[in-house]
Amino acid sequence: MDHKKLKIVLEEKNQPAFRYKQITKAILRDAITSFEDISTLPKELRAILSEELPILPFTLMNVVISADKRAMKALFMLSDGKIIESVLISPKPGMWSACISCQVGCAMSCDFCATGKLGLKRDLTTDEIVSQAIFWRGYLKNEKIDGTYANIVYMGMGEPMMNWDNVKESIEVLTDADLCNFPNRGLSVSTSGIVSGIKKFADTFGQVNLAISLHFASDEKRSKYMPVNKGNNLEQLKEALQYYLRKNKRKLFIEYIMLDKINDTHEDAVMLAEYLRSVGTMHLLHVNLIRYNAIDGDHVPSTKNTVQNFKKDLDDLGISATIRKSIGDDIHGACGQLAGHVVRERRDKQE
Ligand code: SAH
Ligand code: SF4
Repeated sequence: MDHKKLKIVLEEKNQPAFRYKQITKAILRDAITSFEDISTLPKELRAILSEELPILPFTLMNVVISADKRAMKALFMLSDGKIIESVLISPKPGMWSACISCQVGCAMSCDFCATGKLGLKRDLTTDEIVSQAIFWRGYLKNEKIDGTYANIVYMGMGEPMMNWDNVKESIEVLTDADLCNFPNRGLSVSTSGIVSGIKKFADTFGQVNLAISLHFASDEKRSKYMPVNKGNNLEQLKEALQYYLRKNKRKLFIEYIMLDKINDTHEDAVMLAEYLRSVGTMHLLHVNLIRYNAIDGDHVPSTKNTVQNFKKDLDDLGISATIRKSIGDDIHGACGQLAGHVVRERRDKQE
C-alpha cells in the first residue's frame, strides 16, 4: 500500500488524523490483507479505500512451493503487465527470510545470472518493492505458517544501487517504526559492486547489512564475467569497501559464487585471501561461498568437494567463510535463478 497516497485519500475524505495510523498499522504491520477486514473502520470508508487504493500494487499469479517446503516463490504481475519474482525461504527451521526484487530484469549482464539475461525492463517503485515484503508477511499469517519473519534481503531481481532512490525509500519505509517497523539489522542489500552506490549506502544506512557480490579476485576474470567491473574495478571497489568499513565498523559480507574450474582453484583462494587482506579490517569481512545454480548450459557448478577444499584453503589463509546451502533450486528460486522461466522458455523456443 502506498502510504503517501493513503494520506492524500484520507485528507480528501476529511478523515480524522488517527485514521492514518490505524490503517498503516493494520496493513503494514499487522498483515491485514483487505480494508474490509479492518473492523474498526467505518463501513463506508472501507468501501472507499477498497475502491481507491490497492493494498498490493501487483497481482499474485501463483506461488510455487519447493518439495522440502523451505522455499516458496511468488510470481507477481505489475500494473503494466510486467512480471517479477519474489521468494520466501527458511534458512533455519522457524525462521523466514524474504528475498525481494528491486528491478524488472537487470542491466548489469553478469554472465552467470538469469535476471541479467533479461536486460533491464524497468525500475520498481518504492511501493512495488515494499509490498513484496508485506505480501510475505500476510502469506505467513494466512497460510498459518509458524516461525519468525526475520529477514528481508534485496537479493532478488535487479541491482539495488541502480535504482537507488526507490531502494533507499523502500528501506526507510520498511524500517520506519510507524510504517512497517522491520528491524534495520534484519535487512540486507546485495550489490554487484557499484562503487558510488556503496559509498551512498555507507553514508545513509549504518545498521542495514551490505553484501558484495565479488565472485572473482582478478580484474581480468571479473571483467569477463561481470561487466560492472569495467567501471568499478577491484582497486576502486577496495576503496569503497574501506570507506564503508571506516564509517560503519559493521560486518561486510562477501559473496563468492563457485564455478567449476573458473574461480575455484587453490590459486583463486590465494588471490581472494590476498585481495581481502588488502582491504584490511579482516575481522569485519565474511565470505559466503555459493555453489553456482545452473540456469542454462553455459556453466558448471564446482563440485561439493572443491567447495569444501576452497573453504579449507580460506580457513588456512585466515579468512572466515561459510558455505551457503542452496535452498529452493527445485523451484528455480535460488540465487541467480529468478526469471529463469523466461530464459528457459526462450531457449526451448530456439531449440
Ligand atoms: N544484483 C545484486 C543482487 C541480486 S543477485 C547482486 O548482484 O548482488 C543475488 C546474488 O545471487 C548475487 O550475489 C549474485 O551474484 C548471485 N547469483 C547470480 N546468479 C547466480 C547463480 N546462477 N548461482 C548462484 N548465485 C548467483
Ligand atoms: Fe544483476 Fe545481480 Fe544478476 Fe548481476 S547478479 S545481472 S547485478 S541481478
